[in-house]
Amino acid sequence: MLRRGAAETVLPKLAKAVDAEAVFWNRCYEGTAVERDKRLKDDLPGAESFNGMLLFEPWEVKTGAGTPFKVFTPFWRAARALPEPGRPLPAPKSLKRLTGVESDTLSGWKLLPHKPDWAGGLRAEWMPGEDGAHERLAAFLRGIKGYREGRDRPDRDATSRLSPHLHFGEVSARQIWHAIRHRESTDDGEKFLAELGWREFCHQLLFHHPTLPTKPLDERFAKFPWRDADAAFKRWTKGRTGVPIVDAGMRQLWHTGWMHNRVRMIVASYLIKYLGIDWRRGEAWFWDTLVDADLANNSANWQWVAGCGADAAPFFRIFNPVLQGEKFDKKGDYVRHWVPEIAKLPDKYIHKPWEAPDDIRAAIKDYPEPLVDLQEGRERALTAFRSLPSS
Ligand code: FAD
Repeated sequence: MLRRGAAETVLPKLAKAVDAEAVFWNRCYEGTAVERDKRLKDDLPGAESFNGMLLFEPWEVKTGAGTPFKVFTPFWRAARALPEPGRPLPAPKSLKRLTGVESDTLSGWKLLPHKPDWAGGLRAEWMPGEDGAHERLAAFLRGIKGYREGRDRPDRDATSRLSPHLHFGEVSARQIWHAIRHRESTDDGEKFLAELGWREFCHQLLFHHPTLPTKPLDERFAKFPWRDADAAFKRWTKGRTGVPIVDAGMRQLWHTGWMHNRVRMIVASYLIKYLGIDWRRGEAWFWDTLVDADLANNSANWQWVAGCGADAAPFFRIFNPVLQGEKFDKKGDYVRHWVPEIAKLPDKYIHKPWEAPDDIRAAIKDYPEPLVDLQEGRERALTAFRSLPSS
């Protein structure tokens, strides 16, 4: 998307230069984009915007009282009762190239990193563009069986990894919807559509609450006693907390620009609850490092984990990263891949190296001791939570 302000200077000039009769675009739903689009509509000839991003418009899915939903399940039930999203239109066979228009070259913007080139892991993992997106969708649909259970397992390749492609519009939610609906209806397909439903839910939250990225929806959290803990925050970003599943996730993020959803919940919960650090700092780090960084999905999910968002897990429900690891990365394959310095630990200790006998621990000297004792971190979180005004 163009920088704020740039669209408003460049587009009217361009429309004039090419003698445009009409200008069409697909809508975004964040506050600044909504405001910008309103202004652009006054400045452009035949301006019209469309919904290319979502299955349903954020204002279409409403409670019986006509208000927006704050809970996912009834939101999705109401959305499913609406007429099906329209079939996607085919892409035009060709587009007329613009000539004689003064323009920067893309390479002139020097967007690709070099010295240091930190993007090698990203290049290996992703094929940006429509071809990459549609190949990934086709491959995912071939293997969709087992998605419902497998989607929680970071040690398996069970999710679609379509999030960056969806974010950049290289595949649309409507294309995915129709690709799934035209297959035999299955439990796995329904579960996958419900995940797209979460995306819709997050976007309608952002549309109705433009301050979602910065202000807790639950106002009781406005003065929550967050800790500064800068050194701990830094270790979290670097995947050096001493808790294997957290470190594995943070390193996967740094290396590939993506992290498995279950692990996103674990690392976010660890930062907020065990380290006591403000969810907005974690949100900002994800924003800088995720290839699928998306204002609606990122802020709604961080608020959800923090317990201050819509339909949020209560603050006192604290994910124990050891139990989560043992449940969802049973043999520790995910951890061993991303935290190779502890790969030789027996399965029994892979999610809690600090419990291993001294002779075994001597072999993993390079791996840090845990930043906080999990029991103490949990108690501290609960004490801070009790300081909230009652609702
Ligand atoms: P799949 O399981 O294949 O799901 C298909 C699609 O459904 C995803 O591509 C995504 O568009 C949507 N989806 C799935 N889960 C969610 C969810 N919980 N909320 C909203 N949409 C969802 N997702 C982003 O796209 N961008 C973000 O910036 C982002 N930040 C997150 C931050 C935190 C703290 C958490 C817990 C989750 C975040 N998510 C974000 C949601 C989710 O983790 C990713 O969408 C998902 O992991 C992407 O992988 P996938 O495409 O393989 O998912």
